[in-house]
Amino acid sequence: MRKKELLYEGKAKRIWKTDDENLLIAEFKDDLTAFDAQKKSEAKGKGALNCQISANLFKLLEENGIPTHFVECISENEMVVKKADMIMIEVVVRNIATGSLTKRLGIPDGTKLPFALVEFYYKNDELHDPLINDEHALILNLAQSESELEELKRLGREINVILKSFFDKANLNLVDFKVEFGRDKDGKIVLADEISPDSCRFWDKSSGQKLDKDLFRHDLGDIKVAYEEVLRRITEVMGV
Ligand code: ADP
Ligand code: UDP
Repeated sequence: MRKKELLYEGKAKRIWKTDDENLLIAEFKDDLTAFDAQKKSEAKGKGALNCQISANLFKLLEENGIPTHFVECISENEMVVKKADMIMIEVVVRNIATGSLTKRLGIPDGTKLPFALVEFYYKNDELHDPLINDEHALILNLAQSESELEELKRLGREINVILKSFFDKANLNLVDFKVEFGRDKDGKIVLADEISPDSCRFWDKSSGQKLDKDLFRHDLGDIKVAYEEVLRRITEVMGV
């Protein structure tokens, strides 16, 4: 399989076409952005760490029955993925209140939620990814039907159950995370994009220490050290 022209360059990845029309290459970049890309930086090696973390988590989820776009890693910061027609919804699942939830609803930071909360955000940089409900999603044609939205919620909750129990073994609390889905060539909904400390929040269960992009958002420490630690714990629990 050969890498061909650049299809899309986003904030954290470059997406390349290949000579197979059903496959793409996702190249993870070292760039770091936060707060609608108003805050920018770079961390050498971050792309490779996120690529390896995502690959391991996609494998874990596939083994547990979640269809994903992941095919294989071809370098330390590049993976082959199945091309998907992306659903422009960011599905956020939360176990503990923090970030925008505490700001929006006044729930104290660190409050354990009584059940996993699933939220939809419209993936649209110009509109700053607003929170939307099911009816907004249907009016915007982001999903084909109410049952497709229900499937996104079901998949979000299932992914949460699998990841929460996995990270528990790594002595990490999975606080919240964002996932994106797409439709594959057969119209099946698959988990796409990435799952990494850029898109999840992890708090060490013993010390409460943050091991995710909040370190960069709020200038709390070195993200490289934290992401390395997340990858180390993942590989330890997976036994690879
Ligand atoms: P952003 O677009 O938010 O800046 P990235 O830099 O991560 O984000 O860019 C990756 C882009 O590739 C995103 O728009 C994402 O929706 C898209 N994408 C992820 N996985 C796939 C896939 N399997 N097929 C097609 N597009 C994908
Ligand atoms: N998130 C993300 N991309 C976004 C917005 C949020 O990956 O564009 C992730 C974020 O890392 C966190 C979860 O989604 O794990 C919930 O984020 P929140 O809504 O609290 O947003 P923030 O506090 O970053 O504004």
